[in-house]
Amino acid sequence: MLFRSVLASAVAAAALLSTPAFAQDAEALKAQVGAYVQPSNTERMNVLVAQLRAAGFNPTVETFEGGGRAGPMQGSNVVVTIGDGPKEILLTAHYDAVKLRDGTMSQGVVDNAGSVVALIEAAKILRDKPLSHRVRVIFFDQEELGLIGARKWIEAHGVANVVAVVNSDVAAYGDTMMYGQNNGAQSAFVTRATQELCAERALQCVGFPVYPPSDDRAFSAAGAPVVSLGFQDEIGAHQMWLAFNGGEDKGLAEGFTPKVFRVIHTKDDAIEAVEGATIALAGATYAALVQKLDAQLR
Ligand SMILES: [Zn+2]
Repeated sequence: MLFRSVLASAVAAAALLSTPAFAQDAEALKAQVGAYVQPSNTERMNVLVAQLRAAGFNPTVETFEGGGRAGPMQGSNVVVTIGDGPKEILLTAHYDAVKLRDGTMSQGVVDNAGSVVALIEAAKILRDKPLSHRVRVIFFDQEELGLIGARKWIEAHGVANVVAVVNSDVAAYGDTMMYGQNNGAQSAFVTRATQELCAERALQCVGFPVYPPSDDRAFSAAGAPVVSLGFQDEIGAHQMWLAFNGGEDKGLAEGFTPKVFRVIHTKDDAIEAVEGATIALAGATYAALVQKLDAQLR
């Protein structure tokens, strides 16, 4: 009976995945990520604002004087607010792309347009849910220049009302979610909520005691509870785990670089690497995590 029902649901799931509607959705999400291939971060911001408006949101653009190691340069964070309440949960991702060594812009789809489109999908889910917190979906600029957009947002708004932050960086292919565990004791409950969600959804997740930095570090430095998430294929996630956490005995071949680091910040960060199904999965997972935190922190 159990076997039969498992088989039946597997068949039903396979049918669902193979319906043209689902395939079309995945293709549409991939195309939406591809739209961020632009010659400048200003043009990426224009794409983001247009996509948010097309999805029915009314985004706010918050400019700041930034630039960091690139010298003075104005930046723009883009913010969508959902719901209301004195306390806030933030869902964040950077939309800027890095400048490559040859001076050209990275296409920046894996890093980080995939996360950007996943956040738009999450926002579309969350606006229909009853929430007891205000949810701010923030698209940061100048992450690649040293987390400047996030730092400037914290400078302007503070984190006194921020009860949790969910950040996404590098989420464009694969079915395995990675989460960092190195954001301080104040972040332990966000990590636990992430682990509960992985178990409830039977989602393959890999926790990283050492996880590469993103805008999450600006928030943990300010004392806010935060988790940083990403997606990739399962083998790649484990190879990356070993590269960062395996020490002397990591067992990776001499000179081996996990695929994700051969892709991001190179010419290979291109649309061919993106899987629309991952964008949909990431969006649904992030929305569910925000809902879980909203309920737990009520
Ligand atoms: Zn990034």
